[in-house]
Parts: sequence; structure tokens; C-alpha cells
Amino acid sequence: MKKHNFNAGPSILPQQALDKTAEAIKDLDGTGLSLASVSHRSKEFDAIIKEAQQLMKDLLEIPEGYHVLFLGGGASLQFAMVPYNLMNKKAAYLNTGNWAKKAIKEAKFFGEVKDIKNDDYYSLPKGWEKEVPSDADYVHITTNNTIFGTELRQDFDFNMPVVADMSSDFMSRPVDVSKYGIIYGGAQKNLAPAGVTFVIVREDILGKVDRKIPTLLDYNTHIEKDSLFHTPPVVPIYTLLQTLKWIKENGGVKGMEKRAKEKADMLYSEIERNKLFKGTVAKEDRSRMNICFVMNEEYQDLEKEFFDFATSKGFVGIKGHRSVGGFRASNYNALPKESVEALIDIMKEFEKQKA
Ligand SMILES: *Cc1c(COP(=O)(O)O)cnc(C)c1O
Repeated sequence: MKKHNFNAGPSILPQQALDKTAEAIKDLDGTGLSLASVSHRSKEFDAIIKEAQQLMKDLLEIPEGYHVLFLGGGASLQFAMVPYNLMNKKAAYLNTGNWAKKAIKEAKFFGEVKDIKNDDYYSLPKGWEKEVPSDADYVHITTNNTIFGTELRQDFDFNMPVVADMSSDFMSRPVDVSKYGIIYGGAQKNLAPAGVTFVIVREDILGKVDRKIPTLLDYNTHIEKDSLFHTPPVVPIYTLLQTLKWIKENGGVKGMEKRAKEKADMLYSEIERNKLFKGTVAKEDRSRMNICFVMNEEYQDLEKEFFDFATSKGFVGIKGHRSVGGFRASNYNALPKESVEALIDIMKEFEKQKA
């Protein structure tokens, strides 16, 4: 049966990126060696990582003065690395969800945190910029709330570095990189298998803290060695490169934005129209990447039945996060429009049976 992969992360990747990785694991470009067993210092891998860095710079039009790093440790390690490298006394965090909360927890090890939040995570705080203390060392945002399904698609101007966790909407739309000090994320949502973390860092924001930083946690270590201070995640970086090539062939980040918007609009319209379902997030804050919905009150008891129905039709990963319940359809770059159409079809079919 054809599967429709709506997993939230690790998640769907372009088939061509997976095929290329499978080939390279057997034989890397006719070298007679597996990608999984070449040295990270070989000229073959050097070309791969350099091409990936350059392609990311090209696709996002990253200005001079920034470095693209591919590290281990996930976005979660960045929660600690960011304050380790940037915080002297104080930072402001826009708390828009579970991941932001985890970032705040780590930042508190290093200093004072201004925690800016709403009562709940179903909408984004409005006018929050005014709450950022002018003497903060940086301001941290999480552009997409993977779990509740809100998204902040705006670049901000502050008189301090803006740091963004873009794990779950990276490369799904253009961003003005010049407005950020650091953009980071786990690549397993939109770019690669789990294991590689991307960090785009502006070099002039570093070196301003008084504390000593352990070697591996210091961004300058990785900048100086161009992500090869120690063994990077070789195989995921190769897939990441193939995904970037696929993005380029499909219209770049503007093309990804068009795809994402079209698919998200289709699904949100059906959620609004269908008698059985309703969305959970304030309309103006809805994510294009993680589309959350629940059963309408009078159909609450059909939740499990719809889930089983969807599973029987080949749908994977549409259960909402355990802290929210209901359903979550993750609409990452590689998810084909046909999968969204198929989901809409079964929602309609279920409505015919039940409503
Ligand atoms: C998935 C996710 C993370 C965690 O990423 P890891 O690579 O597993 O540490 C952090 N932030 C956001 C927004 C996420 O979606």
C-alpha cells in the first residue's frame, strides 16, 4: 500500500535524496568505497561538505560574515551552546511552545531570562517586541511550534542579535538572514535524516562573553575548522546536500514557500469546511508546516476511529503530539501535494459516513 508520511520528525525527505544516499552508501561516486566508510578528511567528503555549505548560502542568500556549520547534538544542544557563547547577563526568550521552554531552561544556567509568553500556546504573543529588555545580550525566537502548530513568519529588527530555532520550518520560505545572529535547527524535520544540526552564525557576535567555553561548545572552534574539528555526521550531511539540490531544482526557498502555502491552504480549508473537524490554532498564527486539528465537540468519540481509518488507508504520523491530542499533519517540503489531497479525500469520506 502507498504510504502517506505525515511524520513530525524525523520526517519525509525527497525520494531522490534518499535514492542518492542509498547509492552512495553502496558506492560513493565510483570510488569503490561506501559513503559510510570514507574518511571525513578525504577529498571526496571535503567536496561534499563544502558544496552543502555553499548551496545553503546560495539558496538562502546568506550574506558575507556568516558561517554555515554542520554539527552533532541536535537543536537541543544549541539550547545550551547559544547562551554559553552569547549570554553575559541577560537574554529575552519568546516562549511560544514546548521547545522554546526547553531552550529557556538551558539559558537559565547562564543568566537571567526574560520569558515572554501567552497563557497558552494556541496563539502567538502580540506586541511582544516591546517586552524585550533593551540591555539583553540577545533575543531568542522559535519560528515554528512543531507541537501546537503556530508559526512566526516574520524577520525582526532589534538592537541585539536575534537567535532563531528554525528546526521545523527551515528552508520552507525565504528569510532575511542579515537580521539574525544565529539560525539553527535539527535537520531531521526538513533536510536530512537525524544526526546533523545546522547552525548559521554571524562571526562578529562571538567572543563577547567573559566565561571560558569548552572547546567543542565554542562556535569559533567549528568556524576555524570549517565543521571538521571532529568527525561530523557524514551520512546525514550527504543526504542534506541531496535535499538542497532537490530544493534548488524545485524553485529554491520561494518554490518551497509556494508548495507549502498551497498544500497548507488546501488542508486548512477542508478542516474549516468539514463538520467533523476543527482547527486548534488562531487563524493568523497557523503553521504551514504542522497542521493541528481535533474532532468537533459532538464527534469527540470518533477520534480513535478516524485515526484507525486513516491508518488502514496508509496514513502515517497524523496523531497529534501527546501533549495536545487530536491530529497533526506535518506538511514539510518533501510531502507531495497528492498526500494532502489523499488526506482531504479520507476526511470527506469519513464525514459522509458519520455526519
Ligand atoms: C524537533 C525540534 C527540536 C529538537 O531537536 P533535536 O534535534 O531533537 O534536539 C528543537 N526545536 C524545535 C522547534 C523542534 O521542532
